[in-house]
Amino acid sequence: MSAPGTPDDPLRVAIIGSGPAGFYAAEALFAHPEIDFEVDMIDRLPTPFGLVRAGVAPDHPKIKNVIRRYEKTAGHEAFRFLGNVDVGEAVSAPELASFYDAVVWAYGASADRKLGIPGEDLPGSHAATEFVAWYNGHPDFADRSFNLDCERVVVIGNGNVAADVARMLVLSREELQRTDTADYAIEAIASSRVREVLVLGRRGPAQAAFTNPEVRELGELVEADVVIDPAQVELDEPSRAFLDSEAADATNRKNLETFRELARRRPGGKPKRVELRFLRSPLAITGEERVAGIELAVNELYRGPGGSVRARETGATEDVECGLVLRSIGYLGTPLGGVPYDADRGVIPNAQGRVLDAGGEPLAGQYVVGWIKRGPSGVIGTNKKDAAETIESVFDDVAAGRLPGRTGSRDALPRLLADRGVEYVEYEGWRAIDALETGRGKPLGRPRVKLTSVEEMVVAARRRSPEDRGSSRD
Ligand code: NAP
Repeated sequence: MSAPGTPDDPLRVAIIGSGPAGFYAAEALFAHPEIDFEVDMIDRLPTPFGLVRAGVAPDHPKIKNVIRRYEKTAGHEAFRFLGNVDVGEAVSAPELASFYDAVVWAYGASADRKLGIPGEDLPGSHAATEFVAWYNGHPDFADRSFNLDCERVVVIGNGNVAADVARMLVLSREELQRTDTADYAIEAIASSRVREVLVLGRRGPAQAAFTNPEVRELGELVEADVVIDPAQVELDEPSRAFLDSEAADATNRKNLETFRELARRRPGGKPKRVELRFLRSPLAITGEERVAGIELAVNELYRGPGGSVRARETGATEDVECGLVLRSIGYLGTPLGGVPYDADRGVIPNAQGRVLDAGGEPLAGQYVVGWIKRGPSGVIGTNKKDAAETIESVFDDVAAGRLPGRTGSRDALPRLLADRGVEYVEYEGWRAIDALETGRGKPLGRPRVKLTSVEEMVVAARRRSPEDRGSSRD
């Protein structure tokens, strides 16, 4: 039997997840014009683009321009989007796989890592990722509420998500109203009582995971002074050795330079402040019925194996009053029934993107890309190389005849979904949602006013333009 990829026998691929990783996987497939495809991109939400829509901070609109590139991919004649389809619920993973030559899991890492300290589950203690999804209007988080009726918020972690939430918390109404922040979040943040955001790093300034533009941006906030105790940017011996070693990169050095510049500044009399405090680990989140404060360990650094720099407690502690704690210590992958999962690492076990079974052998026709492949690291563009590696494995397996084969026509999945009462949303449906959102934003000078419930989205998707109609469902 010849390999699929011809006009009579196209290579049929399902990509589960429509964030950057999924789109770069589709792009890498379509980079082979000699092959005929049928590519279905399936998403749990009626809207595509994953964290570009629901994760990237609304005050970073330029980062979202990458969507234009994904739109090109979506315009390929072999591409089909099936949104509002929860794989694992609407269709099981094995059922889905039976319809495709290859399945590429690209569903990201939607949960959060836990601190494992007392008080973590008190009302008022949240994963920063929940706050991010909330202000971005993600339908699963639109009904959340956060205690912004307090003077101080503590953010735990020194990554870009921590920087995003710290910034968002101190934006003014005017700044927020220029963005696509969900309307309810604009109202809540703009009328909040928050005057101070304390961002905690367990290690020192030289080890922070922020990228440099994010650090510099903290120094450019309109409404808030950034505060760093100058003593904290004096280097200890482990950090000096780290910066002299190959383990440190340009970002570590540049960040330190920026932290030092910020530490030299005098407060500019702005109404709010963002303080960066290093060498602090949370010991307990305190409060009776809700968060009232946080107990911190003061850390020191020591040199670990392989040039690493680690933190350990000195025995000294600090208590800080606050009404809201946002834990920003990283996303975590989740298992999907019927798909192998490494619970320790929060990823689908794989070799060069080939999913591995419990015995460590490749599972024919199953692949993985993005955060659910490598863990929640890197920026949007990191997913391009990552997806290219996986798609190369797909093509190697096609050429070697290692794909398991498929059943049914391309319409088998949509028919099954329709039989089960699932109102899937195609790309034309998304275009209708997009048109409605951008249309609502235009008179207000905003990029869009987001729909924040699946029901509203599905209704909007039904208003596809006449020229878009005529697909398999009509
Ligand atoms: P991250 O970059 O991995 O940062 C996680 C932070 O949490 C680190 O500072 C880490 O400290 C700290 N941490 C981990 N466990 C901890 C614990 N038990 N106690 C205290 N602190 C702890 O994760 P992220 O901020 O969630 O970002 C995820 C990815 O998305 C990153 O690659 C990020 O660059 C990217 N992203 C990019 C942008 C952008 O480009 N603007 C925006 C948002 C996110 P240690 O270093 O000591 O482990």
